[in-house]
Amino acid sequence: MIDLRSDTVTKPTNEMKSFMMDAKLGDDVFEDDPSVRHLEDMAASMFGKEAGLFCPSGTMTNQIALMTHLKPGDEVICSRESHIYNYEGGGIARNAGASVRLIERKTGLLTVSDIADNINPDDVHQPVTKLVALENTCNRGGGNCYDINEIKAIKEFCDKIGLPVHLDGARLFNAIVKKGHSAEDYGACFDSISICLSKGLGAPLGSLLLGDAHFIKTARRNRKVLGGGMRQVGIVASAGTYALNHHVDRLKDDHEHAQIIANALANCSWINQVLDVETNIIVASLKDDFEPLKFLQKLEDDGVLAIPFGKGKIRMVTHLDVSSENVEKVVESLKF
Ligand SMILES: *Cc1c(COP(=O)(O)O)cnc(C)c1O
Repeated sequence: MIDLRSDTVTKPTNEMKSFMMDAKLGDDVFEDDPSVRHLEDMAASMFGKEAGLFCPSGTMTNQIALMTHLKPGDEVICSRESHIYNYEGGGIARNAGASVRLIERKTGLLTVSDIADNINPDDVHQPVTKLVALENTCNRGGGNCYDINEIKAIKEFCDKIGLPVHLDGARLFNAIVKKGHSAEDYGACFDSISICLSKGLGAPLGSLLLGDAHFIKTARRNRKVLGGGMRQVGIVASAGTYALNHHVDRLKDDHEHAQIIANALANCSWINQVLDVETNIIVASLKDDFEPLKFLQKLEDDGVLAIPFGKGKIRMVTHLDVSSENVEKVVESLKF
């Protein structure tokens, strides 16, 4: 099977596994695991941040960021398409006790005026606007990336009024590779950043939350509350270190593969439209009379897995375990 359901399906490579086997371990709740500390420090310094926190998942790093920035009754501004709103089990309300201001934009990318227009006035009737959360790349937008100038404008605006900005950077390295800016460039634009090691980077699990030392200290407390304090977890944190050292530059291969598949999809008689591909995600809508589930079944019969992605749409994602030969086979499978 060629599995294009998500870039989360990758298996650790043999090189990654042997690196994991050699990891030095300790009890990370005592902050005694050298492999975890190395990963947290390495990632923090890549992004020009003071500190990092290793967590089991990207949902947890986002939720901890929300809990750390917000208190009950505060409000976060984010896109209607965002992962924190759609795919984290209502955690904004449940874990942070916060209210949410959704911006309707199909691309999932916000502008500085979206934010300026949605800050509540100092009025007892309204929740207090306390956080802006962006997503880059944007999953529901089809893996699209912000123009860094828009991000800079947002940060500059928010700094003026003392509003922190969080980034759900689950696939930030895809944007880094695509746009050619450095990790530090992005680091300077956010108060906190969440990064997934288990997507395109190919680690079996793990996400990092980055921020200043004081923020991460409180975040560490919130991680414990959620049951995310782990013990000899350097065994998997080391996979993240390996991924950051070896699996970043190759993301451009995934982007090329996604473009090839998108071109083939555009020629498929069942397909109405394919969103522009910028990184490793392909989102396509089917023509009115065509059923996504039937389309996906036809592909599955041919050895290709993809997922339905909202009304009339499908999603495919390229990753470490999809070779150029696999891509050729997918292109052949799409000739119907
Ligand atoms: C995958 C993802 C996350 C985190 O998901 P986990 O499965 O909890 O690791 C967060 N945001 C975006 C945009 C994602 O795609």
